[in-house]
Amino acid sequence: EAYIGAIDAANDKLNAYVATTPDQARDMARASDAKLAKGEAGLLEGIPLGVKDLFATKGVHTQAASHILDGFKPEYESTVTANLWRDGAVMLGKLNMDEFAMGSSNETSYYGSVINPFRAEGSNANLVPGGSSGGSASAVAAWLCAGATATDTGGSIRQPAAFTGTVGIKPTYGRCSRWGTVAFASSLDQAGPIARTVEDAALMLQSMSGFDAKDSTSVDLAVPDFAAAVERGVKGLTIGVPREYRMDGMPAEIEALWNQGLEWLKAEGATVKDISLPHTKYALPAYYIVAPAEASSNLARYDGVKYGLRVSGKDITDLYELTRAAGFGREVKRRIMIGTYVLSAGYFDAYYVKAQKVRTLIKKDFEDAFNAGVDAVLTPATPSAAFAIGDEALAADPVAMYLNDVFTVTVNMAGLPGIAVPAGKDGKGLPLGLQLIGKPFDEETLFAAARVIE
Ligand code: GLN
Repeated sequence: EAYIGAIDAANDKLNAYVATTPDQARDMARASDAKLAKGEAGLLEGIPLGVKDLFATKGVHTQAASHILDGFKPEYESTVTANLWRDGAVMLGKLNMDEFAMGSSNETSYYGSVINPFRAEGSNANLVPGGSSGGSASAVAAWLCAGATATDTGGSIRQPAAFTGTVGIKPTYGRCSRWGTVAFASSLDQAGPIARTVEDAALMLQSMSGFDAKDSTSVDLAVPDFAAAVERGVKGLTIGVPREYRMDGMPAEIEALWNQGLEWLKAEGATVKDISLPHTKYALPAYYIVAPAEASSNLARYDGVKYGLRVSGKDITDLYELTRAAGFGREVKRRIMIGTYVLSAGYFDAYYVKAQKVRTLIKKDFEDAFNAGVDAVLTPATPSAAFAIGDEALAADPVAMYLNDVFTVTVNMAGLPGIAVPAGKDGKGLPLGLQLIGKPFDEETLFAAARVIE
């Protein structure tokens, strides 16, 4: 009831939820009470969570914040949310996001911008919560849920977590099932939690993870006890510091925060080692070929026939064109055009195949560092703190907006786990985050190291 009340009081302003499910929440909470009374509590019994609008929730609004999925209510539940409900969690509603998870500011949503609960000291300007999981981050930061599901294709869990002072982890590719999650770029997409503490994130990820035969890329590995790893400490660990992430023009306060994070880890017994990840500078351009290519293919299914919006015309071709013209927003159309271009016969080898080769090199950079004894890599999570909604320079220059992902996309390209953890504030009191990157399927080390920083 406290969370339902908080949503009613604050959501008009923050625009974090696109649909609420108070009746369902009360039913689920009553069922949890009954289980608790019998001493049968699940891992997340009675914990009220928000769900990113990208996850299919049976009978409940699921539109990936797009007009083209108008009125879509799936007949099935995503594996990740089904796992959470199995463990007793309670659904409060569906959370706003960038349309089809394409964006870094939550400004591409059909439902409008989400507002970051933080403001710069002495300013009334509304700031973005980051994206694409902006609704998840804003709702967690503003106490409109105890935790939220999110997804990360190029940074969409970690960047919004950094902008809102929350913890967000993208697990290793294959750790969480993608079944029932609306696809953006299938070889990069992973679900994960946004939560207020490292421990909360560990508990949520434990529930969300696990093998699922319905996703061919789901990995058949036992889920470790993530919560038990949180207090394990960092004694004896080697933390890599990649020199390529010291970008020109990086704000001094982000550089200082990064050094501070290293000091905290050293004070707890970790060793710091300078490393090189030489292909870092190619990650962003290669990502913006691979991700739109996969997106253009995945989005072909929205044809006005099978789901959501239908705009009829004189024939079937007209129906496809009119539906897609009306249903997709500008950023989604941009991605479809880039994607179909790089996949077209004359350009496939020059762009798409080349980007896949670069991807292999990026993955190998990390493998070399891990083989040389590095246990985890520490970097800033974002190149800046949260920026203003409607920033004209960013709106006019999509590449400047894409630069938000410069520290996060490498992790998706390499399939590795990455966590963003709040580490401090900028000069105006806005949250700043650090990122830890781990070995494949070693989320436990990330939780332990993030706990030292938080
Ligand atoms: N901001 C990146 C993009 O727009 C990443 C999005 C994501 O991780 N879903 O593609």
